[in-house]
Order: sequence, then structure tokens, then C-alpha cells
Amino acid sequence: MAGGTAAGGQLTTTTDVENYPGFPTGVGGAELMENMRAQSVRFGTEVITETVTRVDLSSRPFKIWKEYADGPEQEAAHTADALIIATGANARRLDLPGEEKYWQNGISACAVCDGAVPIFRNKPLFVIGGGDSAAEEAIFLTKYGSKVTVLVRKDKLRASKTMANRLLSNAKVEVKFNTVALEVLGEPEPMGLMKRLKIKNVVTGLEEVVDADGLFYAVGHDPATALVKGQLETDDEGYVVTKPGTSYTSVPGVFAAGDVQDKRYRQAITSAGSGCIAALEAEKFIAESEGGDEPPLVTTSIEQSSTAKEEGKAPEYEYSTNPLL
Ligand code: NDP
Repeated sequence: MAGGTAAGGQLTTTTDVENYPGFPTGVGGAELMENMRAQSVRFGTEVITETVTRVDLSSRPFKIWKEYADGPEQEAAHTADALIIATGANARRLDLPGEEKYWQNGISACAVCDGAVPIFRNKPLFVIGGGDSAAEEAIFLTKYGSKVTVLVRKDKLRASKTMANRLLSNAKVEVKFNTVALEVLGEPEPMGLMKRLKIKNVVTGLEEVVDADGLFYAVGHDPATALVKGQLETDDEGYVVTKPGTSYTSVPGVFAAGDVQDKRYRQAITSAGSGCIAALEAEKFIAESEGGDEPPLVTTSIEQSSTAKEEGKAPEYEYSTNPLL
């Protein structure tokens, strides 16, 4: 386990993935990851299944320490000429009573991945959160549920105006402001499904139990960047900053792919695509280093220009020292 997630990443925690191309009837998340691993091994990849606890990106080759061998005096377990950080992100949970019992038995952190599952068809569904993800997921779920109720803990949405308008004008959506979930209730174990939700209006104090066959968390994600904090440039929310359209991080030779650098799309296919980009760029980096063209080890600044930030314009990124850029 790394960051609470088993080897293979977030997809191992989901059931059917319905939106990965090439699988018209869906594919199990764990099965998809097993297949990716096997395919990679077939082409000669050596997979070392270890938890990495520490990295040193200050000089090349980069150094990697693993669990149980990471004392300060310990030699690094591995060194690398190029490194791809693909540690992902973890969807935040709420730790509600009943959450553990009904996780993936009605509760999910990804409507786009799980929404099409038959247990949600024409059933009352709930989404928790008031951001763009909550709005997007609720609108997506209207294709499947009989009604979608969004629980927003404050008296306003955090979502962009456009998304908020789309949400509030959807006839199949009800937004309950100032409302939190207290407990998930349902069928007995084993394999029982959630059936009801206890909710509370935090202004009036009124508590009620409502029918709910699905509960989707959209309360944000935490990128798994503890390992590289302070060594790679990260944004306000902790995501690794990459140059748009590439996997370049602020350290030449270190690339980032998947949810660790993507807070917007977060789909298996977009992560796979960015993984491919990172692999091609890492290979090019090594080939150029071996060609005697040693790239300088100088930290670049992937800063959104301050003027653009102030004026709220589309980000312009400044790069200076990476020869590949
Ligand atoms: P956000 O952090 O924007 O929103 C999280 C929401 O969850 C907030 O409304 C927050 O409430 C609520 N929340 C957090 N903790 C709790 C809790 N314990 N109980 C109840 N509610 C809680 O995350 P998103 O995933 O929505 O978005 C992340 C980023 O991705 C944003 O920059 C967003 O704009 C972007 N995005 C863009 C999309 C698009 O443009 N189509 C689609 C999806 C995401 P509160 O407001 O009270 O803090």
C-alpha cells in the first residue's frame, strides 16, 4: 500500500471502468491494471514492487530509497538517469458512519467511472460537494438516476458560474444548500447495498433520512506529492506543475504523468496518455544525455507570469534552462 492505495493505483479501488476505449462492455479496474502490467513486462519492463519513501532529485543520477531501508545513513536502493513521477492522487473521503461498509456498494468517488453501473439506474442519487467536479458529476448522473440531489455544506456553490448555472437549471437536479450527510444506511452485509442517507440542514438543525441508492463524493482530491515536496515545483493545491502539453517538471530529467499533475480530467485514458508522453520524453532525455549532450541540472521555474495571474488571464508559463524546452 502506498498512500492508502494498493499497487496499481486508484483503478484498483474501482469496480467496472466503463469509459476506457477498447472495452465496449467495460472492464474491471483491477483487471485493467493487471493487463497493463503484463503488457509492460512483455516488453521487458522490470517491475520492482516496493514502497518508495524518499527521493533525492538534487543531482543526477536521482536517488530512490525504499521502505524499511530509508535511514539517513542508508545507501539509496536505486538510482535513475530519468524519473517519471506518477504517484496519482487520492479522492478525499468523509469518514461517515457506514462509509466503509458501503464503499463501492453504492458509494463512489468517481461518477464518470461508476455512474453507468446498473445499481444506479433510475434510482435517487446524491452528490456531495459544491465545486466544478460536483456540478459535472451531478449533471453526468442525470443520465442514469431518477433524480440527483447535490448536498452543499455552505449556502453557495464554489463551481464556476457556467457550471453552477447548468447545474441549477437542470430539471433532474435538486441542490440542497447548508446540508451535510451524517450517515449511510442500507442492506445488511455481506454485499449489501446502500439504500438511505441521513442528512442534516446545518442552519435549521433538521435531520432526515432520505432514500438514496448512490452517493458520489466530489469533495476534492489530494495529490500524492509528499515524496517530491520542496524538490519539484508544485501548485497551491500540491499538484506537480508541468509545462502544458508536456510532462516536464521543474527539474530536467524528472517527468510527471497522470493525476499527480492533473486535477481536471483525472480519467484512466487521460492518465495513460500523459504516461505515454512522459515515457517518450524520458527516453528522449536519456538519448540526448548519452549523445554527450549533457542537459544542465538547473531547476527551471514553471511560474505562471505574475501579470497574467493578476489580470486573471490564461496562464503563460516561463521556462528558461531545460534544453528540451
Ligand atoms: P474543489 O476543491 O473545487 O471543490 C470541493 C468541494 O467540496 C467544495 O465545494 C467544498 O466545499 C466541498 N467539500 C470539501 N470538503 C467537504 C466536506 N468535508 N463536506 C462537504 N463538502 C466538502 O474540488 P473539485 O474537485 O470540484 O475541483 C478541483 C479543481 O478542478 C478546481 O480547480 C475545478 O475548477 C477544476 N475542475 C474543473 C472542471 C471543469 O472545468 N469542467 C471539472 C472538474 C474540476 P466548500 O466550497 O464549502 O469549501
